[in-house]
Amino acid sequence: MAVPTYDRFQLMHCPFCGAHDTKVIDSRLVAEGDQVRRRRECLACGERFTTFETAELVMPRLIKQDGSRQPFDEQKLRAGMQRALEKRPVSVERLEAAIAHIKHQLRATGEREIKSRVLGELVMAELQKLDEVAYIRFASVYRRFQDLNEFREEIERLSREPVKNE
Ligand SMILES: [Zn+2]
Repeated sequence: MAVPTYDRFQLMHCPFCGAHDTKVIDSRLVAEGDQVRRRRECLACGERFTTFETAELVMPRLIKQDGSRQPFDEQKLRAGMQRALEKRPVSVERLEAAIAHIKHQLRATGEREIKSRVLGELVMAELQKLDEVAYIRFASVYRRFQDLNEFREEIERLSREPVKNE
């Protein structure tokens, strides 16, 4: 028996027994990528059900290297990429398309949590397509930190420092 449920707050309780531990069996984008349809199985009672989640709410959380979790932050992602693309001949449209592509890939994983490292690799793949210099800038810093959140913190720190030789 399958009952479609709409849960705008991503509290995926089982409609049969109310348990919160559910496992994603299948995940696919619908409505031109604005929604994710998920087949879930309740780990408590074993019943299966379908949810339709709005894409805004289904971005996976990021697991940092120290094990802490952070929500996906599009502004931070954009800031990190813009920093790598500074003074490079890449249009805002192409950057936005790259960000949209990264978000699409994150959603398509169907995971609730992913390692922040996965996001870092996606960013590097997009930058490589956009601009070789930006890619090298990002990769050289990222590979040293091995953690996108640390990279972001570093970028934020650098952006607060007074500009020299300009
Ligand atoms: Zn259940």
